[in-house]
Amino acid sequence: MSLNKEIPYKIYLEEKEMPKQWYNVRADMKTKPAPLLNPGTLKPMTAEELEGVFCQELVKQELDDTTAYFDIPDEILKFYKMYRPSPLVRAYCLEEKLQTPAKIYYKFEGNNTSGSHKLNSAIAQAYYAKNQGLKGVTTETGAGQWGTALSMACAYLGLDCQVYMVKVSYEQKPFRREVMRTYGAKVTPSPSDTTQVGRKILEENPGTTGSLGCAISEAVEAALNQEGYRYVLGSVLNQVLLHQSIIGLETKAALDKYDITPDIIIGCAGGGSNLGGLISPFMGEKLRGEKDYRFIAVEPASCPSLTNGVFAYDFCDTGMVCPMAKMYTLGHAFIPSANHAGGLRYHGMSSVLSQLYHDKMMEAVAVEQTSVFEAAEMFARVEGILPAPESSHAIRVAIDEAMKCKETGEEKTIVFGLTGTGYFDMVAYEKYNNGEMSDYIPTREDLQRGFDKIPKFPGNEF
Ligand SMILES: *Cc1c(COP(=O)(O)O)cnc(C)c1O
Repeated sequence: MSLNKEIPYKIYLEEKEMPKQWYNVRADMKTKPAPLLNPGTLKPMTAEELEGVFCQELVKQELDDTTAYFDIPDEILKFYKMYRPSPLVRAYCLEEKLQTPAKIYYKFEGNNTSGSHKLNSAIAQAYYAKNQGLKGVTTETGAGQWGTALSMACAYLGLDCQVYMVKVSYEQKPFRREVMRTYGAKVTPSPSDTTQVGRKILEENPGTTGSLGCAISEAVEAALNQEGYRYVLGSVLNQVLLHQSIIGLETKAALDKYDITPDIIIGCAGGGSNLGGLISPFMGEKLRGEKDYRFIAVEPASCPSLTNGVFAYDFCDTGMVCPMAKMYTLGHAFIPSANHAGGLRYHGMSSVLSQLYHDKMMEAVAVEQTSVFEAAEMFARVEGILPAPESSHAIRVAIDEAMKCKETGEEKTIVFGLTGTGYFDMVAYEKYNNGEMSDYIPTREDLQRGFDKIPKFPGNEF
């Protein structure tokens, strides 16, 4: 902790101080995350198999457990410079409101049109597709954060972008849909009649409003059926954590400028990409035995994969078309109750974070959404930024930890990831403001139904 340097409200890095490499935390893990499995053969997916669906360079990154640093290509750095480095903010106003001796910082990733950290990986994935000479990419989106980020990246590089958007969001959340179309993406409500799997689902369930699992299946089919197209995914995968390490590397560089060492680092966890990216360089130090930190993953109580899931191989998607990953999972058939943090409603968790959690290198807590919105509202009123519901899970736990410091008088330094803004989530805020928000926590039976569908094979006991 610095004694003589005044800490500003915002610690900005200069452009020339921006990281020029991504950091791969797997290189420092003694127990590596388990490989993706081919569900047909139950053997690890080979590069060749993966290259049918993903771009070559991204497959290399996905499978590389030993290279610690990857150069960020110049074209991607150029794009990053349009909205990065992102500020590390000292939450002086929140500290004052809480009357805590804790020092709170947040890394703000909402300063771009897509409104979240997802752009950090979208541009990387679009770049490698373009570099391979492909024509375009396909993906799915739920509420639309990932689709929006990808459409911006594709527009910049002149790549075709096809987004399968869950029909209920397509109809009820027109704003992100129109942002995507403004950036030139073709947005199709899913299920649609443009794919075989979509037609089959429509035939079996006429009038269905769709699901993320179904949109994934359609996007994968669309990539496989069009020459020069690949499928891209916005979270969960190793490659996405690698790209998101830019968040943690910038955070560390900013803290180092003022000799600040955090005690606790907190992030919300859906598929794990922002949290994995934020903690990566710090976790690397912990894994190498150089420093010690507490890391806390925050998930919604309605979709508690780390705190209530099992550590097993499971399908990454509801439609069971994707490979299997070893992760903390609630089961690919688990359907979380409606909650307002759409980006955190994934049944599984990144294999990297799952392994680190399993090895007790990281903690996890689950929080209920009314308490999350309470924290969001307090934060908005004192810090000015209207946070995304997803990000507000991290705010909740940062406040809780700061209040513990108030009791004990400890001056801990807390850093959390503020992944995005909530401007497109006003229906959720409306529910909260009207006192109509509820907290549904899955029962033992709900969870068991999900666990029952996890594939059973020798070695996959849980
Ligand atoms: C998608 C999203 C998340 C969750 O995704 P991770 O891969 O777990 O980081 C969190 N916050 C925002 C704003 C998002 O859009």
